[in-house]
Amino acid sequence: MTHLHDKVYKLEADQLAELPKRALPFLKSLRGLTVVDISGKDSSRWRVVTTLIHGNEPSGFIACHLWLLSKEIPSTNIRVIFCNPEAAQTKPYFTNRYVENSEDLNRFFNRNHSKGSAVSIRAERIMSLIHEVSPEAIVDLHNTSGNSPAFAVSVSESQAHKQLVKLFTESLILTQLNVGAVMEQDFNAPIVTIECGGATENSSHEVAASGLYHFFNLENLFASDVSSLQVRRHPIRIELTDDASVGFAHHRLSTTDITLRADIESLNRDLTPKEEFIGWCEPDEPLVIQAIDDQGLNQIENFFENRNGCIFTKVELQLFMVTTVPEIATRDCLFYTTLDKPVQQLVN
Ligand SMILES: [Zn+2]
Repeated sequence: MTHLHDKVYKLEADQLAELPKRALPFLKSLRGLTVVDISGKDSSRWRVVTTLIHGNEPSGFIACHLWLLSKEIPSTNIRVIFCNPEAAQTKPYFTNRYVENSEDLNRFFNRNHSKGSAVSIRAERIMSLIHEVSPEAIVDLHNTSGNSPAFAVSVSESQAHKQLVKLFTESLILTQLNVGAVMEQDFNAPIVTIECGGATENSSHEVAASGLYHFFNLENLFASDVSSLQVRRHPIRIELTDDASVGFAHHRLSTTDITLRADIESLNRDLTPKEEFIGWCEPDEPLVIQAIDDQGLNQIENFFENRNGCIFTKVELQLFMVTTVPEIATRDCLFYTTLDKPVQQLVN
């Protein structure tokens, strides 16, 4: 079994000169939390990239590897942090969100979180590595588990946050949900999470590579026009209640409490209309899913209904991060959704 240990490994110039040419051997060569520092043309400023917080989300890793191979000199100093290589190294490679019997690293960056566990120490190390260089900007690169277009997630819609987002995507989700993610923390600099798209899609790796190219090479990150950016607000987290279970199939499963449509990931792409069928549940029992808003309130009654054992949407929704990986759906959440009108206007 793999354990997270608290050492920080630094890739030095001689190792960078001999870098494996393919991403997988490069991954295998890492020994744990790994930092790469590159000197830029302007050595008075730093920018930081965090990636591989989730081991099953390779786009940021692939893009950083490509960029390191290019041996280009960035416009400012760059620190790349490969946050959780051990999870990606758990076989099958690039398929495990976290190491076995551990927990989701991106829920441990909240300083109030229980201290002392291996995963909380890892989160503290990463925070220190970012603080250490007082960066002018931070991007945190992820993928969605299911197929999806790229989008960014941020806790702020300041001009600077939007300008970082624009390097990668035209879509921003603004959140006040506090789950302990790195992008919720205060580094005295803008930080955004980029969900580059589905983990297995080449287009996602391209989003990461082209966005990073700009992030590393632009002399001024904060000059672009952001008027075309689409901002969606108040995401709601749709999750199972208590120990309820979910499956994904083309028919009702008798082995789980609810069954979601096998093709539910397709709802990541477009608006889901009111009255859309999304799955099956027990006909005469309350839904075993909840919809937690950014005030911590359960809004399930406003979004979904149980009609004779079939689950329908009650309003138009934009779903995102829908996944059909049962472990992620169960241990994290089923998906998120946003809507542009306040809930009060939707009722009646
Ligand atoms: Zn992630």
